[in-house]
Parts: sequence; structure tokens; C-alpha cells
Amino acid sequence: MRVRPLPMHPLLRGLATALCILLIAAGLATWRQLPPAPLPADAPPDVFSAYRAFLFLERMVGDGIPHPNGSPQNDIVRERILKAFREMGYAPEVQEAMVDRRGRPFTVRNVMARLPGTFAANGDAARSRLPGPAVLLMSHYDSVPDGPGASDAGVSVAVILEVARLLRNATPPRNDVIFLITDGEEYGLLGALAFVTGHPWVKDTGVVVNLEARGTSGLSLMFETGDRTAWLAGRMVDSLHRPAANSLMAAVYRTMPNNTDLTVFLRAGYTGYNFAFIGDHQHYHTSSDDLAHVDLRSFQHQGENALALVRTLAESDLSSLPEAREAVWFDFQGSFLVWWPLPLTLPLGLLALALSVWLMLRLRRREALSVGGALIGIGQSLLLAGVAFGAAWLFARLARTLGWIVGRNAAAPAAVVSGFWLTALLGTLLAVWLLSRWSRKPRFGGLVWGSSSLWTLLALIATLLFPQGSYLLLVPALVATMTGLVATGIPPNISTLDDTLLRATLLTLFLTACLWLPLEFLFYQALGLAPAWLTAARPALVSVLAAPVLGFRNG
Ligand SMILES: [Zn+2]
Repeated sequence: MRVRPLPMHPLLRGLATALCILLIAAGLATWRQLPPAPLPADAPPDVFSAYRAFLFLERMVGDGIPHPNGSPQNDIVRERILKAFREMGYAPEVQEAMVDRRGRPFTVRNVMARLPGTFAANGDAARSRLPGPAVLLMSHYDSVPDGPGASDAGVSVAVILEVARLLRNATPPRNDVIFLITDGEEYGLLGALAFVTGHPWVKDTGVVVNLEARGTSGLSLMFETGDRTAWLAGRMVDSLHRPAANSLMAAVYRTMPNNTDLTVFLRAGYTGYNFAFIGDHQHYHTSSDDLAHVDLRSFQHQGENALALVRTLAESDLSSLPEAREAVWFDFQGSFLVWWPLPLTLPLGLLALALSVWLMLRLRRREALSVGGALIGIGQSLLLAGVAFGAAWLFARLARTLGWIVGRNAAAPAAVVSGFWLTALLGTLLAVWLLSRWSRKPRFGGLVWGSSSLWTLLALIATLLFPQGSYLLLVPALVATMTGLVATGIPPNISTLDDTLLRATLLTLFLTACLWLPLEFLFYQALGLAPAWLTAARPALVSVLAAPVLGFRNG
């Protein structure tokens, strides 16, 4: 039999189609990376307005003087916070305590205020003269000695003050709300330690919401939780309008040595949430962490998240939090949050596998795939992933040689990350073309089934090894097999099988890119371009799903 290579032009047409899909998804991801626009001071009185909260921030740290624990300016900033609470009608308190840190004694002064809920006054708790479990909203007012700490964590303290004001002006919530603004966080979580080990209110705490910053811009990410994540995820779904959260980030963060005030509460057996924005981290802990570098969008997002979540938690029954059930969750382009209980992950992986086998049988019945072709399809997909990875890896080496990547960072991150994705796609294109030269034209059914089944197998492995991150493989695997099954069910007199399979592949590629591309921003903010193999592996894997688009013989 004569082996005829594919002509180039359908490949180029496939490349243009795949590029278009990736570009649309990238545009969407870039747009959704912008936190919400700050609301003006005359916004409705029950919503969070960054412009209103900015007045608190200006009063507190407007003079731009560092105010680390123990400094004279630390006293001044604390007095300003106390005054703001008093003006709103609260009776704030100061907890003064000595904390020993590596043999050195520190005096810390935490600021606390409390909004009484109706439950303690009316419910069983009143009969037992005990307050019901409270929501604790926390951040820290001390800065590092080298910077004025406007974003770390002045913005979050201003968020707490504005949330306190909004809650005070509304109908009292069910649960008490405790506002804790700690001192000495930067010297080792000293204020939080003093509160957890020595303040009576800690016994009233049901759930903690901590607000932080490791930069000055970007989305307010919910990046860490305590246990009982199934319950926590459910409350997030009920409250957050612009969620930026996933269990992958939370699971990775748990393995890192980084600490915040929340760490102290988690170690003491409490649960809760940790929010932070981490963009432009070159200002973090420096003299340029000042008012001029405060991003009002990040301010607005942090405030909206804190207000919405505290409102939900303040109305939730915190007296008996459910057992320590864990969950998998992720936001889709910041629009909505999807979650399921962690034990459901393996059954979902097995479902994807069953659907994949079913798809193979359906393709066989439609004579688009043989058993041998199915095996070859998986082999081809592995080969495509390898070539795509190799191409992206070579690009990383080249970019480093040319000075586009220095250390973990790039001068033009968007261009360099796009380079990784483009070279991975071109690598896949090259591999598809070579396959067409070496073998009989790769059968389209084999390419479609091969790419979806490779993702299904990887998803199944991930559900076993790393369930919190497995959604990244599981969701595309389920979409690929389900759309494939729908495509094989459409009668040939309406549309040819290849055409419907192509449409299924386009949809899978688009949804997968929508799920994966926002992570590029997150990875870059958190880790830079390190490790290079991971930066190359992401586009290489997604390119496998683009292979059927590239190899579609429409010429
Ligand atoms: Zn901080």
C-alpha cells in the first residue's frame, strides 16, 4: 500500500482553528483575572465599597511610616484603629500579652471588637449563659520594619473596619462576629499566638476568616483552609460572587512551610479560610508597599469576599460543624464554584473510564476505530504529549539562553508563557504530520479516542494520588468522553461522524483551556516559571486534546 503523507494545508487549517480556540480562552482568562472594579463611595450602603474603605486605610497608614511591633508608630496606628471602632459604636478592647519567641520576649497588643449576635441572646446559649460559636474575622496591623505595610495588611484591616461598619448598620446576625486585628504577625504570628493561648474569646470561636497579602494586586484568592473542607466549600458556594479558589492551591499550600495567623488557629484545631492577593510581589515587605501601590480592585475583591463570607457564616449553624469531610473544589473562570465531596473523586474517575470504554465500543460499531486502532491511539497520544513537551522544553532552554527568562521570572511573562503554549502546539502539529508520513493516515477516530483516553487514564491516576488536584484532568476527561458519546449518537444523514467528532473535540479543547489557562496566572504569581518541566508539561498535555483538531483531514 502506498503511504501518502497528509498535505500541509489541512494541518495549517487545523493549527489556525486550535490557535483561535486557545486565544479566545486566553482572552477570557486574562479578562477574568482582573478583580472587580472598585465601587464608589456613594454605592448602596449595604455593599462593600473600596472607596469608602480606603478612607480607613488613609487614616491608618496614610503617613507612610513603618509600624512594626513595639515601635512608637505601632502605638499610633493601634490608637487610630481603636478610634475607628469606637466611632462606629463598638467597645473595642486591647489584649496585651508577653510572647516568648526563640528566647526573646515580645509585648503584643491585639485589637478586638465584638458584634453580638441574636443567637446568644435568644437561643439555648442564653439559657446556659454561654455565647454561641462566633465567626472570627482577622488580619494584622503591624508592618515589617522596612515598609509602611499598606497592602500587607493595611488593606485587610481597612476591609475589617468597613465590614464591621456594614454589619453594625444592618439587622444583627445570628452568631456573634469577633473582629481580631493582631499585632506582631511579621515577627512570627505573635499576636495570634497570644489570642489562641490566652484570650477567653478563643473558646467562643467557631470558624476563622483570615485576610492577608503577599503582594499588592491581583485577585483575592481563597488559598488555604482548615479541615472540614466539604462544609467550608458549601459555604463558599453560597456566598462568593467572584470566587478565585481551588483545592489544588489549598493542597499545595498545605505542603509549604509558609505561615500566616491562620496557621496558629489551625494548629489549635480550629477551621477556617485564608484569603490573600499575591500579584506584584516585588513590593511585598518593601518601602514601596505604600498607598500609591494599593490596587483598589484587589481591595474591592478582598472586601466583597470577606463581607459575603462573614454574612453567610454569621447566619450558619456553627454549634455542630459536620464531621471532618473533605472536598474538591474549583472556580470556573471566576464565575462559579464547583465542588464535590472528596470520596466521590475515585468513582468519578471510574465513571470516566467506563464512558471511555463505551466510547471505544460506539466508535467500533460506527467503524471509526478497531481494537488495535484504540491501542495505537493511546500510543500516539503519548508520543504527541512527549513531542509537545520536548518542544516546550526546548523553548524554555532557548528563552533562558536569550535572557527572556531570568531566575524564575520573565521580563514579559505573558509573551514567554504564550511561547510555551505555542511551541507545545507546534510540537504536536509536527508529530501529527510525522505520524501521517510514517503510517497510514492516522484514523480520525483513533486520534479522538486516543487523546480522550490518555486524559482519562491520567485522571484516574490523579484521583488515586492527588485527588484535590485531579479535577484538572477529571473534568476534561468527562467532557471529552461525554461529548464523544453524543457525537457518535448523531445519525450520519444529519452529519458525518468525523464532523460531529470534530465539534466534540473543539468543545472539549475550549472548556479545558478555560479551566487550565487561568492557572497560568496563578502559577506565575505563586511560583514564577519554576519548575520549568511543570511549565512545559501543562501546554503539552492540553495540546494532546488539540491533536484531533490538528489532524482533521478536511482538505
Ligand atoms: Zn501579612
